[in-house]
Amino acid sequence: SRRKRLSVNEYVDGVLESNTIVLSRTITLVESNLTEDQILAEQVLAKILPHTGSSKRIGITGVPGVGKSTFIEAMGLHLAEMGKKLAVLAVDPSSQKSGGSILGDKTRMEQLSHHRNAYIRPSATGASLGGVANKTRETMLLCEAAGYETIFIETVGVGQSEVAVKGMVDFFLLLMLAGAGDELQGIKKGIMEMADAIAITKADQENIAASKKAKAEYQNALHLFPPSDTGWSPKVLTCSAVTQQGLDEIWQMIEQYFDHMTSGLDQLRRHQNVSWMHETIGYLLKNNFYHKPEVAKLIPEMEKQVGFGKITPQAAARELIRL
Ligand code: GDP
Repeated sequence: SRRKRLSVNEYVDGVLESNTIVLSRTITLVESNLTEDQILAEQVLAKILPHTGSSKRIGITGVPGVGKSTFIEAMGLHLAEMGKKLAVLAVDPSSQKSGGSILGDKTRMEQLSHHRNAYIRPSATGASLGGVANKTRETMLLCEAAGYETIFIETVGVGQSEVAVKGMVDFFLLLMLAGAGDELQGIKKGIMEMADAIAITKADQENIAASKKAKAEYQNALHLFPPSDTGWSPKVLTCSAVTQQGLDEIWQMIEQYFDHMTSGLDQLRRHQNVSWMHETIGYLLKNNFYHKPEVAKLIPEMEKQVGFGKITPQAAARELIRL
């Protein structure tokens, strides 16, 4: 069902007035793939851009089951009760396939979703991570313009989406479980290297001792990574979303990071903007390319020929690009 569009100024004013109904409609506009919507969205974003940049942008990741949504709800309520306005967004690659977002599930963060200081938006859906991530980034800017001073961007710690989230946030928090020490050796290294802090979750009851041990292990592991350009050395903390232990310490550590980054933050964001431009060029070119009718028509044939070894992947790619 199509809804009537608002005017550019109606979207802009509504967002700046922190009208959540208009904010949600503007995000829907940004997420739309219709050309007219995209043109309008771009005009809205251009007007909103001068009002962005003042929030703390925080990425939160971890494998399914680590306790991300429980953590975000507990931490979010903690902040919301302190009077801070918080927006929770998600980059959820799984939502591309199922068409329904796991991270955006309405039953999650039930309490937080009802708090007047919190705004929760399910993940955008789309054909590619690049597209979904771009939309999340624009949604983040809209939330900033609407006065949300803290933005959590959640992602499932299963691969590429962490890189995309790292590229749009100021601070990247990795949640990990105690007793998952083997992961130190495996795939998590790349993600660990991106983390500004690791929080060991579920540090309660019989888990407390193991959490302390894991904390020491991860602290040692982080020392092996080269120091970052910003001069910030990643921290390891423990927490429990159930007992609330450690939540305030984590928030204080995040504030300490922002104090540390005063001038470095602008530089980080400038770098991110430039990289984002180049990534968007790649994404737009690719999108354009695959949507060309001649290309779309020839792709299945080329795939077959490449699959059977009749033509090299390079030759096939070159021939398609020549179209
Ligand atoms: P997600 O998949 O990373 O979003 O994880 P969830 O937040 O859904 O949590 C997974 C499970 O861990 C749920 O059964 C939670 O109740 C449980 N859990 C989350 N946080 C804690 C915690 O701090 N302590 C304990 N004991 N359990 C927790």
